[in-house]
Amino acid sequence: MSESFEERARALDTADELGKHREKFALDSTVYLDGNSLGALPAHVPARMADVIAREWGELRIRSWDESGWWTAPERIGDRIAPLVGAAEGQIVVGDSTSVNVFKAVVAGARLAAEGRDEILVDATTFPTDGYIAESAARLTGHRIVPLDPADIPGAAGDRTALALVNHVDYRTGRLQDLPGITAALHAAGALAVWDLCHSAGALPVGLDAHGVDLAVGCTYKYLNGGPGAPAYLYVAERHQGRFDSPLPGWNSHADPFGMTPGYRAAEGALRGRVGTPDILSMSALEAALDVWDGVRIEDVRAKSLALTDFFLECVRAYAPEGRVVSVTPEEHTARGSQVALRCAEAPAVMAELIRRGVVGDLRRPDVLRFGFTPLYVGFADAERAARVLAEVLRDIPAEAPVAASSAPVVMPPA
Ligand SMILES: *Cc1c(COP(=O)(O)O)cnc(C)c1O
Repeated sequence: MSESFEERARALDTADELGKHREKFALDSTVYLDGNSLGALPAHVPARMADVIAREWGELRIRSWDESGWWTAPERIGDRIAPLVGAAEGQIVVGDSTSVNVFKAVVAGARLAAEGRDEILVDATTFPTDGYIAESAARLTGHRIVPLDPADIPGAAGDRTALALVNHVDYRTGRLQDLPGITAALHAAGALAVWDLCHSAGALPVGLDAHGVDLAVGCTYKYLNGGPGAPAYLYVAERHQGRFDSPLPGWNSHADPFGMTPGYRAAEGALRGRVGTPDILSMSALEAALDVWDGVRIEDVRAKSLALTDFFLECVRAYAPEGRVVSVTPEEHTARGSQVALRCAEAPAVMAELIRRGVVGDLRRPDVLRFGFTPLYVGFADAERAARVLAEVLRDIPAEAPVAASSAPVVMPPA
């Protein structure tokens, strides 16, 4: 008799080296497959936050800007994120939301681009905020937006292209874009590559420096577990820092912020991407949360992530009633991020019931069930249980209409 999926899951979990990191997180008996939207709480963060509030703020008060390292937190935390995305020190600054950093990156990128380059290519499948912000940035800088499928960007980049803004992993389908290939094609056309790493940082190797990425942004509350609304980050490759002209040159990015001089003079290095006073409470939670990555190799995270999504897909195919769900996540490992997206005609009712039965994923309207796999705290038994409960829910919720048997990515209209 062949081994059951439950037996295989047990064996895979036993052999899994990364499984030991699970105890670093505050988890309960639910299967949490939404860490691609809000990462789980690392168990040591509450005590750290209690200290930040009671001692650093409560007792040291203003002295903490210096004595508790508050003032330099944006660069210091940036340097801790750097190895996770393949960047050398001094190129990442933490602060503001991803949306705000998209604005800084697109406007500064347009200002860095050569004269006469008047178009900005934007991933048409993008998370909406990136498209909205890029459109406004283009209006401000006098550029034209060209929405494209990421696969068409290399062919479309030409001598009028200033830059392209691309998502490394599509938030709906989980498709991983070819960052090295697209970046190289943009460079060959004389254009800059701006990447959004929200769904890849902490899930897979990014290789910002190795692939010559120009500018990048990302959030820290998904795979990096920084907490709700944790500050985002901006990467400016060292070779661009001297000419990086921020559209939001707040006093925190001044060469001499406490000189309080009327004229603006940009600081050197990554901190030129700072704007105003950093949100220390969120920054502190993020900084503590990053401790879970000590001793973790992102290559190992990637290997487990692929094994988990493969195993989950295999379980879903074996368990789910015929024709009720169709995966829109690429089968090829080279094109898969760390989530599985299933189209299902009854997706809203199915996800609500899944959550009620202790399997937490999320819904992307109208019909995508999304399951994120965070290898530091999700195991193979979780994947098996999620697929089994999904099959039970599908049996209990009657089918409304057959799902189109297409695995084509769901393309969002350009923003
Ligand atoms: C999550 C996500 C964002 C979030 O932007 P915020 O400004 O943090 O709300 C932006 N872009 C992409 C691609 C995302 O996945």
